[in-house]
Amino acid sequence: MIWNKHYECMEREELRKVQGERLQELVKRVYDAVPFYKMQLQKKGIEPGDIKDIEDLKKLPFTTKQDLRDNYPFGLFALPQSDIVRFHASSGTTGKPTVVGYTHNDIQMWSEVVARSLTMADVTKSDIIQVAYGYGLFTGGLGLHYGAEKVGASVIPISGGNTKKQLQLLEDFGSTVIACTPSYAAYLGESLEEEKIDPGKIKLRAGIFGAEPWTTEMRSQIEQLLGIKAFDIYGLTEIIGPGVSMECHFQRGMHIFEDHFIPEIINPETEEVLPYGELGELVFTTVTKEAMPLIRYRTRDLTRLHAETCECGRTLVRMEKCVGRSDDMLIIRGVNVFPSQVESVLLEMSETKPHYLIVVNRENNLDTLEIQVEVEEEFFSDEVKELEGLRQRIKSNISSTLGISAIIRLVEPGTIERSMGKAKRVVDNRNIQ
Ligand code: ADP
Ligand code: ZN
Repeated sequence: MIWNKHYECMEREELRKVQGERLQELVKRVYDAVPFYKMQLQKKGIEPGDIKDIEDLKKLPFTTKQDLRDNYPFGLFALPQSDIVRFHASSGTTGKPTVVGYTHNDIQMWSEVVARSLTMADVTKSDIIQVAYGYGLFTGGLGLHYGAEKVGASVIPISGGNTKKQLQLLEDFGSTVIACTPSYAAYLGESLEEEKIDPGKIKLRAGIFGAEPWTTEMRSQIEQLLGIKAFDIYGLTEIIGPGVSMECHFQRGMHIFEDHFIPEIINPETEEVLPYGELGELVFTTVTKEAMPLIRYRTRDLTRLHAETCECGRTLVRMEKCVGRSDDMLIIRGVNVFPSQVESVLLEMSETKPHYLIVVNRENNLDTLEIQVEVEEEFFSDEVKELEGLRQRIKSNISSTLGISAIIRLVEPGTIERSMGKAKRVVDNRNIQ
């Protein structure tokens, strides 16, 4: 099923034309309405009339998270407060939160892209969807909520946390779809086991998971725990929230809704635009957003784009699962390490559980990497030798994948703190010292 065949399956040439027209109009709009953009464009010697088609996108200046912070809270808004019907803010994982605003039309557009996303997972009005993303300033809850209502599904706006209640409603209301962070999904799955809820009583068939990086190994674990098909949804507050892209049944990357969000991949150091297929930083231009449009916003998320038509019939480009944000990357003894690489190694092994923590310390000027991972209960009652054997195997897999050695600590199930929203996987003690 496809929610909006016209835009999701448009010939690429035609789509580029639409993008070009929208881009021209956008540049005019921000030039007149946002002093920051007027200045940025003038610095580059660009007049709105210089932008004629999509090829001209690369002439435009980039916008960074720092620009948003410098203009906190409303400096980048293109419309007065009277046109704004909603505020949201990024979770502020990295410093002061960034504030975004929406007009009535922005909320409509957001609902449309989330409706397209949910349709990729076959969500229809016959579904009951439990929205277990946080409601509030965070975009996850309300974003999914409006999109789900648009497709006509019955929404349970339970928000994040309150795990016992989540399980109770899963059972009593017969939720068929759940939306939350993948780490919370893993927690719900294990709670289901712990509470000894009969899987036969649960009607769940699909999960809409995003807001944080997760690996295909994590996907398999969640699918198994909850007995569902797990879909990846991507988004960020600055661009709109969840629904910037979403994967279809074929799961060959997430289709970006390019009629609204134009993607580019750049080399983060040189800012040069890279061709499809190359790894780099994802950049978006929001061509239809009214309240706070962004030009070439640098997401800091690292991924690749693919443009071949998908088997599902959509012509929209697909982005691969994010490797992580460039600022999530740890440099340990000079080696670049992404938490997602550690996750892949750990969860490839059947003995481990999807709960782990990466701790980085500096001792005598030397970085140390410690990985704590929960393993199945039985290992702790088994002979010590088996536990040691498993520890050694993980150690050797980590060292061959990452190229550095790590201290592996196997811990009992339930030891690592559970997250109701975005998981905190890394404790880097080096900054505090
Ligand atoms: P914050 O930046 O404070 O965490 P957001 O909630 O806007 O606030 O987070 C957006 C970020 O979350 C994205 O830039 C990306 O790094 C991450 N993210 C969102 N969805 C996914 C996903 N499906 N896979 C990987 N990372 C994701
Ligand atoms: Zn597809």
